[in-house]
Amino acid sequence: TTTTDCPADVETLGRNSWTLLHSIAATYPTSPTPAQQDDVVGFIKLFSKLYPCWVCAEDFKTYIRKDPVKAGSRGEFGKWLCDAHNHVNKKLGKPVFDCSRWEERWRTGWKDGRCD
Ligand code: FAD
Repeated sequence: TTTTDCPADVETLGRNSWTLLHSIAATYPTSPTPAQQDDVVGFIKLFSKLYPCWVCAEDFKTYIRKDPVKAGSRGEFGKWLCDAHNHVNKKLGKPVFDCSRWEERWRTGWKDGRCD
């Protein structure tokens, strides 16, 4: 079967959404103000309500209830998001990502110059 770009399927939506989320973590301050922390926690909560794949959204909301968003610093938020993404990877049988390397993937670039 051929695939099309419109409308986005669950895979395309997911890939692009993770790009947005990890990129937000990559530009999140190392020492966020209380207001910046509230913003990112509120954003993730709303995102989990509005995410337009309903089974994904239900699962993400349940995950957040068990492991609430940590947003005390870029490192903390980036690690929390990486763990949340790994939860979905495990559910879908995808490889688990090494979270000690999330900044290389999403902020600084791999040490060997690759981008993926
Ligand atoms: P993706 O999982 O989209 O990852 C994109 C890239 O991110 C990878 O190539 C890798 O370089 C990097 N990466 C991988 N893991 C991590 C990590 N842990 N931390 C940092 N970077 C990483 N799909 C479903 O079928 N069912 C669901 O219930 C479901 N729930 C989802 C919930 C959310 C909140 C989101 C955003 C997506 C969800 N998806 C779900 C979509 C799914 O996670 C994938 O995005 C989709 O299957 C496409 O996978 P992919 O192989 O292209 O890589």
